[in-house]
Amino acid sequence: MSQFYKVYNEERVICTLCQHYCKIKEGNTGICGVNKNVGGKIECLVYGYPSALAVDPIEKKPLYHFLPATKAFSLGTVGCNFHCPFCQNWRISQTSKIDKSEYFSPERIVQLALENGADSIAYTYNEPTIFYPYAKDIALEAQKYGLKNIFVTDGYESTEVIEDMVGIIDAANVDLKAFDEAYYKKELGGDLHKVLESLKLFVKKGIWVEVTTLIVPSKNDSDEELTKIAKFIADELGVYVPWHISAFHPDYKENNLPRTSMETLEKAYRIGKSVGLNHVYMGNSGYENPTLCPKCSKMLIQRAYFGVKENHLIKGCCPSCHYKLEGVFDEQ
Ligand code: SF4
Repeated sequence: MSQFYKVYNEERVICTLCQHYCKIKEGNTGICGVNKNVGGKIECLVYGYPSALAVDPIEKKPLYHFLPATKAFSLGTVGCNFHCPFCQNWRISQTSKIDKSEYFSPERIVQLALENGADSIAYTYNEPTIFYPYAKDIALEAQKYGLKNIFVTDGYESTEVIEDMVGIIDAANVDLKAFDEAYYKKELGGDLHKVLESLKLFVKKGIWVEVTTLIVPSKNDSDEELTKIAKFIADELGVYVPWHISAFHPDYKENNLPRTSMETLEKAYRIGKSVGLNHVYMGNSGYENPTLCPKCSKMLIQRAYFGVKENHLIKGCCPSCHYKLEGVFDEQ
């Protein structure tokens, strides 16, 4: 049973896992399709039933300032609290059909992570907030073995969940998919303002945050919108927060749009730098995405695809000017 619910009235309970705060009648599920009112309590139906398990480089999440060159044992379930038309994992996110043929206890997930040499567990592929009760139990078990925990999320966590994450979830890559209220509401199924508030709360609570924007041609790629996104990160989160701008490829319901061009990615990069962001990275592009020291511009980390070619940090600091790079780095 989820601990994240409260009674609304005699007929309904409110699921408090995400900002939808669904008011759910007995026997029904909320918007995500996987949290159900069973006897006046919320049951997270996907608990123990991952739909995908894999070992990924942490750079693939993407997290560039969090234990670079380590492996993240990654899992997702089915279901989502958004319905983005460009979803690249729509086969698992837009279904509530749960494969219950094999149960994976939190202990078993952690053992698999250890056997695979992972340094962290990533809750990813679909929206992890909707399976937070499962993620939390895995994360608490993982901590016993020194593993870190990572959320790859749409930023629609409830305030209750973000506050609960403190001391449990170490880092989050949060999507900021656009800066248009109507687009968020109609096309994605969320509220922009609530995502912005979540982002601020993550940072305030000391969870390491990196932001990702998938640049979808004609949807969110105007100069004005990209500037608003970049300015929000710089002004409200901090210029040190990395911004990953990621190239779209046609998928799901957005099959008629072209891929994001290099010119558009480079434009977004220039916009990010022009508003003062220290770190703008171009994903899905083949670009090497070096991390430069914000103070003296020395190349600190050089990457290739999802790997790290060179890492010059010494105890998380620039070897030249000793600037302490923001993020979580091996202290060796
Ligand atoms: S997780 Fe979100 S979408 Fe799912 S039932 Fe709870 S409040 Fe609704």
